[in-house]
Amino acid sequence: MAPATDVIVLGLGGMGSAAAHHLAVRGARVIGLEKFGPAHDKGSSHGGSRITRQAYFEGADYVPLLLRAYELYARLERDSGRSLATFCGGVMIGRPDSRPVAGALRSAEQWGLPHELLDAAELHRRFPAFTPGPDEAALYEPRAGLLRPEETVSAHLELAARDGAELCFGEPVIRWEADGRGVRVQTAERVLTAGQLVVCPGAWAPDLLPCLGVPITVERQVMYWFQPTSGTGPYTPDRHPVFVWEDGDGVQIYGFPAIDGPEGGVKAAFFRKGEVCTPETIDRAVHEGEIRAMADQLATRLPAVPGAFLRAATCMYSTTPDEHFVIARHPRYPESVTVACGFSGHGFKFVTVVGEILADLALTGTTAHPVELFAPGRFTPPC
Ligand SMILES: Cc1cc2nc3c(=O)[nH]c(=O)nc-3n(C[C@H](O)[C@H](O)[C@H](O)COP(=O)(O)OP(=O)(O)OC[C@H]3O[C@@H](n4cnc5c(N)ncnc54)[C@H](O)[C@@H]3O)c2cc1C
Repeated sequence: MAPATDVIVLGLGGMGSAAAHHLAVRGARVIGLEKFGPAHDKGSSHGGSRITRQAYFEGADYVPLLLRAYELYARLERDSGRSLATFCGGVMIGRPDSRPVAGALRSAEQWGLPHELLDAAELHRRFPAFTPGPDEAALYEPRAGLLRPEETVSAHLELAARDGAELCFGEPVIRWEADGRGVRVQTAERVLTAGQLVVCPGAWAPDLLPCLGVPITVERQVMYWFQPTSGTGPYTPDRHPVFVWEDGDGVQIYGFPAIDGPEGGVKAAFFRKGEVCTPETIDRAVHEGEIRAMADQLATRLPAVPGAFLRAATCMYSTTPDEHFVIARHPRYPESVTVACGFSGHGFKFVTVVGEILADLALTGTTAHPVELFAPGRFTPPC
């Protein structure tokens, strides 16, 4: 059978929408297949905001990718005419030897990124919302900020469609197979063939990539919005940065400025404090005890934030054992299948550059970007 198209992209969330754009803009014939609607709230790319930063405490190896991700974000804003990013600055708070502070400092120094170290008193003076303990410090990064996930996905989809990609929503992939000549993808409606398949399944990776040899744990996460007792005035992006804060027990919370107007409150969350789930079993209800636990954490660190509780939403992390991503040719089908999964709760800030890498891999089999860290073979061999 002649291939129906050059490339099929499975999943049009954060990574898949970016891949579809980068493939289409290079002239590939693209079919994108998505189980739900455009920029939906059932995966991992919703909730209004995501932190972005370059002084990366998770590892200095990520910095070159972030430099490129920022460039591509600027281009995406220009090309789509949408407002996607707000660079309000960010603070990594904790003991000086904590991972967020020490790790961010290492990356900033190694790559010469603009930053300042603030002691507790200076942090509180600059950003009065925070009440750090005397043994805590912060790394301030002026180029950190927030991204709009739904707007970003919509921008990538819009540009992909403008360049001829055929994007199909409400059309789940049931199974796929590959051989040396190409791929065959069965959806709920039809069978499609293509030269290349790019699989960006988010939390559905365990179902759609069973043979990859990557153990992925899917975790339920909750985002909370509170109305500060003082109103949102002191929390607007010109006055209040994004933050990640690790306490002495290793509990990490993070939060954002107020970006949804006076009634929208401010958003905060625990980092990686969720039960293991699947996309089918996730509890989408948010319970009284969870809301209280978040409010109690905020009360000790940003005391005016937990005024009235406004709302909450759930989301999923897809976490690998070492919390690094998986971006590669599929080791079992290296001629025709490319995978992007296991973003471990920190992938969104990379979507633009991941789209570029996936287009490189699908169209040329290789990429100039440093992706060695993301090889699936670091876990177990594929089956
Ligand atoms: C609460 C929360 C906070 C986060 N905060 C940050 C942050 O501040 N900064 C940051 O950088 N990252 C953050 N992340 C992580 C980041 O959002 C994710 O790493 C990223 O969104 C993952 O994108 P994805 O494309 O892998 O998954 P998704 O966007 O979920 O895309 C996967 C897509 O595949 C589709 N799909 C699945 N199965 C099928 C099928 N059979 N057929 C067709 N389509 C299918 C799904 O419907 C979905 O649209 C956060 C995540 C969460 C949940």
